[in-house]
Amino acid sequence: MSAHAERATTVSIRDVELTSLWDGTLTAKLDTIRNLAPSEAQRLLDDAAASTGADPLVLPVRAFLARTAGRLALIDTGSGTTKGPTMGHLPASLAAIGVTPEAVDAVLLTHLHMDHIGGLTDASGHPVFPNAELIVHRKEAEFFLDTPMNRLDERSARHVALQRAIVGAYGTRVRRVDDGEGLPGIAARLAPGHTPGHSTWQLGPPEAGALVLGDVVHLAAIQLPLPLVPMIYDVEPEQAGRTRMQVLDEIARTGALIAGAHLPAPGLGYITRQGAGFAFRPYRKPE
Ligand SMILES: [Zn+2]
Repeated sequence: MSAHAERATTVSIRDVELTSLWDGTLTAKLDTIRNLAPSEAQRLLDDAAASTGADPLVLPVRAFLARTAGRLALIDTGSGTTKGPTMGHLPASLAAIGVTPEAVDAVLLTHLHMDHIGGLTDASGHPVFPNAELIVHRKEAEFFLDTPMNRLDERSARHVALQRAIVGAYGTRVRRVDDGEGLPGIAARLAPGHTPGHSTWQLGPPEAGALVLGDVVHLAAIQLPLPLVPMIYDVEPEQAGRTRMQVLDEIARTGALIAGAHLPAPGLGYITRQGAGFAFRPYRKPE
């Protein structure tokens, strides 16, 4: 399979080294796309399949490792044991680049969905990264961790209980941050909509660094040509569309390297304008 070829890809920008780490794949369904005629969605999916030779509904799941200022910071953690055997391969990807879980100094989260936080704990609920500080945007923490349980419906309550157990496993090592905060050289930028406190992580300066996007783009085949199209996973669908448009516009303008959890291989690349929308140009290692 091609999975090994894309298990880990590293790129250096200024004094940061950013590695994309493969966690697995999840398969999206056509009916998770909102506000778009199925025939139009199918046409865009067919276009993407024709140009990439891959099924655009099979989404990769990735996390990213940043080495900067002498620190190892993991951004998101994949699904761990929470989503079945097609995911949860992050530990093997880390091992493939010689990084042990003990060596990770910090874990930065883009948001608290399971395919991003599930890898924080093992099957018995213990922290996978025993020495890591866990850093999350204050707004995301407030929405998922502080809302009283009795205000949630049964399904949300089950989900939130799991999120609280996973984050709770890190005890006092959890730090909530506001925009501009994080680690030396890595700063949170609120990019709300997919979840209310969803954030991107800026590595270095906006005009010359890299931006880790989280789920600003979830289904590239649809949401790059039509950035305003939301998915059922978006907590605030309209805001998610506005945020996507804003972020894509900025990175197309600056030419910044971007890293996206569900973007096509290798999960690193650039965004360019195409028609009324955008296109992804994958990062290719220089020969
Ligand atoms: Zn995701």
